[in-house]
Amino acid sequence: MMTSSNPQEPLRKTNRLDDFWMPFTANRQFKAKPRLLESAAGMYFTADDGRQILDGTAGLWCCNAGHGRREITEAVSRQIAKLDFAPTFQMGHPLPFELASRLAEIAPAGLNKVFFTNSGSESADTALKIALAYQRAIVQGTRTRLIGRELGYHGVGFGGISVGGMVNNRRAFPLQLPGVDHLPHTLDVARNAFSRGLPEFGIEKADELERLVTLHGAENIAAVIVEPMSGSAGVVLPPVGYLQRLREITRKHGILLIFDEVITGFGRVGKAFAAQRWGVTPDIITSAKGLTNGAIPMGAVLVDEKVYDAFMQGPDGIELFHGYTYSGHPVACAAALATLDIYQQEQLFERSIELESYWQDGLHSLRDQPNVIDIRSIGLVGGVQLAPNSQGVGKRGFQVFEQCYQDDLLVRVTGDTIALSPPLIVEKTQIDCLVEKLADAIRQAN
Ligand code: PLP
Repeated sequence: MMTSSNPQEPLRKTNRLDDFWMPFTANRQFKAKPRLLESAAGMYFTADDGRQILDGTAGLWCCNAGHGRREITEAVSRQIAKLDFAPTFQMGHPLPFELASRLAEIAPAGLNKVFFTNSGSESADTALKIALAYQRAIVQGTRTRLIGRELGYHGVGFGGISVGGMVNNRRAFPLQLPGVDHLPHTLDVARNAFSRGLPEFGIEKADELERLVTLHGAENIAAVIVEPMSGSAGVVLPPVGYLQRLREITRKHGILLIFDEVITGFGRVGKAFAAQRWGVTPDIITSAKGLTNGAIPMGAVLVDEKVYDAFMQGPDGIELFHGYTYSGHPVACAAALATLDIYQQEQLFERSIELESYWQDGLHSLRDQPNVIDIRSIGLVGGVQLAPNSQGVGKRGFQVFEQCYQDDLLVRVTGDTIALSPPLIVEKTQIDCLVEKLADAIRQAN
């Protein structure tokens, strides 16, 4: 219930906070001590008390071009006035076709068929369904098993939590997909702490896939899904050679390889997609977030043409019984096209790689702060891992998060790892400011 009937008026602190069941949030804690953001421009949010908050997280890993981009706002308002909605089931409109071609241009070679969704979770579930249906289409119908990885995050659908490996996202929902197995994660602080670039140790974790193939039989496995770099679990990088090894093993056994690039897509690690950064081409890439700069919900699944072509061989008719009312929504497409223009015109993917070493140096300067046990970074993403305090896992990390917010910096915390992913327009002075505030907050935490 708003206290004001005028939608132009800013949110009042007297608004009732009771009724919104907030996602992935400690609701009671938040409602007792809310943190409300009212507007945003460039690198900053404005909080309800007027403070300018430096955005160290691109919102939620999505506003890669910074906030309040006029080009996106205008494209969205033009499009909603022209065509607010059109069905894409047995009907069409020009924008998703155009957007699919634009995405194919920046995707790894061969991944030029695009299925649109509304979120990362839907992209993950769509990719898993395509993988299963593909194996049937090529008369490999026994291939029904899906392999994920410990610490993986693929959103919150039943498919995504089944292949995902973050226990809190799974433990309250025991009814998951059957026939799923997991690779071990690649986080190895003991051997790889404070690595610069990709960690040296851990390629052998990919060989676990051979073990799972031996255990289950290659003829029963449809696909492997991993994030090339896990973001949500606290910025976990692939060891040198690891992704290549996964590719070799999947190819050898006729298993599809899916990269979940919902976070790593659109320049976060220095190329359009992490697949290109590390020179490993999967069969399917999932994306969302940076696709529209976070302005309108949208996801996209990029599929190798051989997979698509397999669906086009059967009898005439609907080839894939899957889709969302809002797949290829005109307003979302307009936002995405305007976003891709910005990325290209401002060369933001290149900027992410240009700033990489400055960013890395800044983060690694935190090494001597109290309780810092690892620092991981690549492109314009970083994780600073703290030792847990005596109150339990995540408590110290949350203290740092709260202190940063009080000091006008938004960071993200997962367990005791502070995850950072500023918009790719970040300036060096803003990197300095972020590092300084974070160092202060880490010193103050107990
Ligand atoms: N996959 C990955 C790798 C993610 O990081 C996320 C969200 O952070 C998702 C899927 C889920 O995306 P969404 O929250 O848009 O459903």
